[in-house]
Amino acid sequence: MENVRFFESIPDFFFELNQKNILDHLEEMTLFYHEGDKEDTVLLSTMLHGNETSGLFAIQKYLKNMMGMEGSPSFLILLGNPKAFHENKRLIPGQLDRNRIWQLHGGHRDHKLSKEVINKVVNYPLIFSVDIHNNTGKNPYFCCVNRLDRKTLGLASLFNADALFFEDPDNAFSTYIGRFCPSVTLECGMSGDDFGVEKAIKFFEESVNLSGPTEFQDKKFKNNVFKSFGKFKLKSSTSIRFIDRDSKEKLDPQGNVVAFFNDLEKFNLKILPKGEKLGYIFGDVGQVKTVSEFDEDLFDDLFLLNKNSELIVRDDFYAAMVTKDIEVAKADCFFYFLKKLNI
Ligand SMILES: [Zn+2]
Repeated sequence: MENVRFFESIPDFFFELNQKNILDHLEEMTLFYHEGDKEDTVLLSTMLHGNETSGLFAIQKYLKNMMGMEGSPSFLILLGNPKAFHENKRLIPGQLDRNRIWQLHGGHRDHKLSKEVINKVVNYPLIFSVDIHNNTGKNPYFCCVNRLDRKTLGLASLFNADALFFEDPDNAFSTYIGRFCPSVTLECGMSGDDFGVEKAIKFFEESVNLSGPTEFQDKKFKNNVFKSFGKFKLKSSTSIRFIDRDSKEKLDPQGNVVAFFNDLEKFNLKILPKGEKLGYIFGDVGQVKTVSEFDEDLFDDLFLLNKNSELIVRDDFYAAMVTKDIEVAKADCFFYFLKKLNI
């Protein structure tokens, strides 16, 4: 069985790694260590989802510039899934979603990999941790936090973007590592977005310059903090389509059909106002399901309305991670419902 591989220094090939050549050098989840001037250690992780490239490029570019600079901290770099990265897939058959494996119990081999990583990294004096991701839909840049203490929010403030707060799932990497040091996840737009890479590098530079959590707590978080309170779930039997808002196309109301408007991604981290039309639904309304911490039916009534097959927003809410990727929409959800927190 393959284990987590550990490099005690950064090998030259690290800076040349890409989706094509990665399996020439790595097989499984891999940790690299770079010893800086200080023992204080920054943990940078990426590639927990194999179809996301911004994190590796940002870390390569940043480390190359930073290595050899005086007064630098040490670094641990986690590359989460070389095999899936090579195939440009979120995960490959037989694997679990590697941003959902960070927990104390679990018998899958991916849980064993996660335990190996945790057992290793906790031996270092971690000062903060950054996990880098991309989205499948068009989202503004944003970050995720799993705690609302001043150090975590101070660290998150350096990304200059809205934050999404979640505690569930509690087995995401950043949630778990947040037990040991301030921890944040950067969502750097869609894979291949150069500006997202630059934004991550700027974040590394600023957070390392601040040199530690005590300085983070003096930073004020000035953007919005959102909390997710539900998901727009779709049954796998539902036929999903995307249509233009002014489409005259005749929809075939046979079976369970949802036709969403093409432009809904523009509402990511924005308010979906009362009366806004999302598209059309045909068939059993139960095919469009919302799940929340509240009573499901009540929730349906509160936020969404089916009026003569038109899907209409009944009361204002914020949306996140609206996706036009039908596979993702069915496997996870079409979007998340958010509320704004007063912090
Ligand atoms: Zn991801």
